Amino acid sequence: MLLTRKAEFSASHVCADPARTPAENQALYGPNANPHGHGHNYVLEVTIEGDPDPVTGMVFDLRELKEIIHAEVVEPMDHRFLNHEVSPFDQVVPTAENLAVEIWRRLQPRLSAPPARLKNVRLFETADLYVDYGGER
Ligand SMILES: [Zn+2]
Repeated sequence: MLLTRKAEFSASHVCADPARTPAENQALYGPNANPHGHGHNYVLEVTIEGDPDPVTGMVFDLRELKEIIHAEVVEPMDHRFLNHEVSPFDQVVPTAENLAVEIWRRLQPRLSAPPARLKNVRLFETADLYVDYGGER
């Protein structure tokens, strides 16, 4: 069974590679490369997979799942300028794709064993754009 918990956080970013020139970044990322940054209200959906416990009827403790997402993602990223305040985004361009990978990397160690394993991270950058990441293939 799949169980999904949603969380939201707001953060700003610049999509620019520090190794490229401003003109190269402008060509590659367009207005998203503006060095002053811009914000998003990110919506995160964390999906775990497991079997409901025959006694409790639950796949996983929902309060614990909420606490894990808060501690690993919301607390460190909410109201932050990702490029300057959240590792590794001083080195890695904080696109939605790279953010989803980093969120997976942070959550996976705490959701890696029965009763439930991390199955998918879905990150909405805007209402009409999201990425799904299910770990390395
Ligand atoms: Zn953006």
